[in-house]
Amino acid sequence: MHYWEMPDHARALSERALELMREFKIAPTPPNYELWFSYASGNNQELIEALDAAVQTGISDDRVQMRELHLRFFGGNLTTAIDDMGAKLQEELQKFAKVLEGAGQDTATYGTTLNTAAQHLNHGDVGKIKAVIEGVIAATRAIEAKHKVLEADLKTSSSEVASLRQRLESIREESRLDPLTGLLNRRGFEERVDVAIQQTIEDGGPMCLMVGDVDNFKKFNDTWGHATGDQVLRLVAQCFKSNTKGRDTAARYGGEEFVVALPQTPIENAMTVAEHIRQAVESKRIVKRATGETLGSITLSIGVAQWVKGEAIADTLNRADACLYAAKSKGRNCVVNEKGVDATALTARARA
Ligand code: GH3
Ligand code: MG
Ligand code: MG
Repeated sequence: MHYWEMPDHARALSERALELMREFKIAPTPPNYELWFSYASGNNQELIEALDAAVQTGISDDRVQMRELHLRFFGGNLTTAIDDMGAKLQEELQKFAKVLEGAGQDTATYGTTLNTAAQHLNHGDVGKIKAVIEGVIAATRAIEAKHKVLEADLKTSSSEVASLRQRLESIREESRLDPLTGLLNRRGFEERVDVAIQQTIEDGGPMCLMVGDVDNFKKFNDTWGHATGDQVLRLVAQCFKSNTKGRDTAARYGGEEFVVALPQTPIENAMTVAEHIRQAVESKRIVKRATGETLGSITLSIGVAQWVKGEAIADTLNRADACLYAAKSKGRNCVVNEKGVDATALTARARA
C-alpha cells in the first residue's frame, strides 16, 4: 500500500515529521523533510538510529549533519534519477539528429528530381516546365535554410547536454564526499573498493583494510562540545590523508570511524601504515579554536585485516572491525591485526 492510497496516514506522518523538526530546531527544507518523514514512518531502522544518534549528540550544524544523512540515505536515488534524466535527454537528441539526417536525404532526393526535370527541359513545353522548376528550386532553398536553423539549434542543444552532463558528474562526485572532512564518504569508499577488488583479482596481489575509531570520543564531545569534536574529526581525517597515498583509499565511514583500503599491500605494511596514522593522531595537540585553550590529545584504535580471495568486502570489514574491537579491549590507542584476535571473536562481532 502506497502513501497516496492512505492520505490520512501520510498526513499524520507529515505532521509528526514537522513536529520533530520543530522540536530539534531543524530547518524544514525538502531534504530534511524527506529524512524526518521517513523517520516518522518507522520503515528504516538504520535511518532512525542515525537520526536518534544525531539528536542525542546534539545538532550543532543541521546543514552539514542533515545533508550528510540525506546523502547517505537518499543520495543514491537522487543521483540515479539525475543520471536517468541525462541519459533520456541524450536519447531524445539522438532521435532528433536522425530526423535531421533523414530530412537531409529528402533534400538530396529532391535535388535529383530537379536534375531529372531539368533534363526534360529540351522536351515538351519549355516555358511551363521552366516555371515549375523555378518554383521547386525556391521551395528547396527554403527547406535548406530551415535545415540550417535546425542544425544550429541542434548544436546548441548538444552543448547544453554536454554541460548538463558535466554538472551531473560534479553532483555525483560531491555525493561521494564527506562534507565535514573532505574525505570520501561510505558510498564513495564502497564504489572505490569494488574497483580495487577487481584490480586485486586481476593482479593477484594482497589487499588489506583498516578500520580506525577515535577513542572515548563521546566523552570528548561531552566535555568540549560538538563543534570542537568536529574540529578533531577534521584533524584525524588529515592524519589519514597524509599517511595514505597512491592506490590507497581513505574514507570517513561514519561518525568517528575511518576506513582505508590498501591494495597491493601485505598485512605487515598495512600495520606500518596504521601505526603511522595512530602516532600522527596521538602527536597532535588539540587547541580549542575559539579560545586558544589546550585540550590535550586524542587517540585512535585501529583494526587491520587482509582480504581473502573470494570473500565479500563486508566480511573483510567485519574482521577488521573485530580487530578494532580487540584494540579497544586491549586499552585503546593501539593497532591490532587478526593475529592478535582469536578466531571466535572474529566471527562473533558482526557489523550492523
Ligand atoms: P570508544 O573508545 O569505545 O570508541 O568510545 P567512544 O566514546 O568513542 O564511542 P561511542 O560509540 O560511545 O561514541 C561515539 C561518539 O562519537 C558519539 C558522538 O558523540 C561522536 N560523534 C559521532 N559522529 C560525530 C560527528 O559527526 N561530530 C562529532 N563532534 N561527534 C560525533
Ligand atoms: Mg565508533
Ligand atoms: Mg570511538
